[in-house]
Amino acid sequence: MASSNTGWVWHERYGWYDTGRFAGLVPPGGWGEPDVHMENGETKRRLASLVSASGLIHELTPIRPRQATDEEILTAHTADYLAYLEEQNAHPRGGIADRGIGRTVFSHGDLDIARLAAGGVIEAGLAVARREVDNAYALTRPPGHHALPDTGLGFCVFGNIAIAIHAIRAATSLTRFAVVDWDVHHGNGTQAMFWDDPDVLSISVHQDQLFPDAQGLVDERGGPAAEGMNLNIPLPPGSARGAYQQAFEQIVLPALDAYAPEMVIVACGFDSGTYDPHGRMMLGSDDFRWMTAQLKQFAVDRSDGRLLVVHEGGYSAWYVPFCGLAVVEELSGVRTDIVDTFMPRLAANPTTRLQPHQQEHIDRAAEGLRLLK
Ligand SMILES: [Zn+2]
Repeated sequence: MASSNTGWVWHERYGWYDTGRFAGLVPPGGWGEPDVHMENGETKRRLASLVSASGLIHELTPIRPRQATDEEILTAHTADYLAYLEEQNAHPRGGIADRGIGRTVFSHGDLDIARLAAGGVIEAGLAVARREVDNAYALTRPPGHHALPDTGLGFCVFGNIAIAIHAIRAATSLTRFAVVDWDVHHGNGTQAMFWDDPDVLSISVHQDQLFPDAQGLVDERGGPAAEGMNLNIPLPPGSARGAYQQAFEQIVLPALDAYAPEMVIVACGFDSGTYDPHGRMMLGSDDFRWMTAQLKQFAVDRSDGRLLVVHEGGYSAWYVPFCGLAVVEELSGVRTDIVDTFMPRLAANPTTRLQPHQQEHIDRAAEGLRLLK
C-alpha cells in the first residue's frame, strides 16, 4: 500500500447541523414516537473521532473548509431555489429544503453549514485537482448526491460534488471527471445535473429502486449530447462483496478505463454497509477498503493520481466509523492498528459471494458499456 499525501476535511459545525426530532425516516406525529432524525450528526462525528483517536489524523493534511458563495452554488442550482432556502433558513424554528416533502429539514441558521459542506468539497477538490495533495477525504455534512437543481431531496441541500466540479473547471484546466457513487441510494442528483454533459461520467452502484422511487434504472444512459455517460448499476437487496467486486470488475473499472477521466470523485455512502438501518446491502469495512484501492490504483495509473472521496449517507453510528477509517487508511496508505471486530463474522458468511440473480442484474447494467467504447 503506497503512502500518499491525503487531504482531510472536517469541521465541528458539520456535527451541529440540526435535523431535529424525527421518527427515523419520517416526521414525528401520529404513532411514530419522536426520536432522532436518521440523518443526524452522530455517524459522521464518530468517524471524525475515530480518525483522531486512531492517530491517523496526524498522517493527513488538513484542508480548511469555507462557505460556498452564491456564485458557486448557482453553477448547479437555480436562483429561485437559493432564495427559497434563504427564506426557510430565516424561520425561527428552521426550514425544509425539499419543498413539500418535509424530510430534508434543518434548523434556523443551518444554511451556513450546508454552505460549509459545499465549500469543504470545493476546497478538497481544488487541492486534489492542483495536486497539492495526492487525494482527499471530505467528511462533510449535510450530504449532496440527491439534491436537484431546483430542490433539496433525501437529506441533501446542495449538490456538493456538482458544485465542486464546476469550481474546479473554472479554476483549473481540468474538464473531464468521473463520479463513482457507492451510496446505497441512487445518485439521482449527480445524474440529473450532468445528464447532458459529455465531460462527466456518472456511475451509480445502488440498491435497486430503494430511493428515489422508480429511478436509477439501467436504461437511464444520459441525454442526447452525453449518451452512455450515465451508468446505473442497480443491485438486488442482499448484495455483498461478490456482487460489488463483480460490478467493479465488469463495469466500473472498464468504464473508467474507456473514458479516462482527469479526476475521479467518489460519492461515498456507507449505507451500503451491512449494519445500516436503511439499506439492505451487506458490505463490510474491507469491501469499502477494496473499492477505494481499485479507484486509487486507477487514478494513479490514468488520472495523475487525482482521487477525491466525498462523504454522503450512512446511518449506523457504530459501523460507519470502521468503514470510513478503512477508506481513509487506503487513501493515505497508512494502516492503523484499529481492528474492525465486525469484519471476520461478515467475511465468513457464504452469502457474501456473488449470487446468480446478482450476476443477471450486473449483466443487464453492463449493456450500457457498449455506448462508451
Ligand atoms: Zn444514501
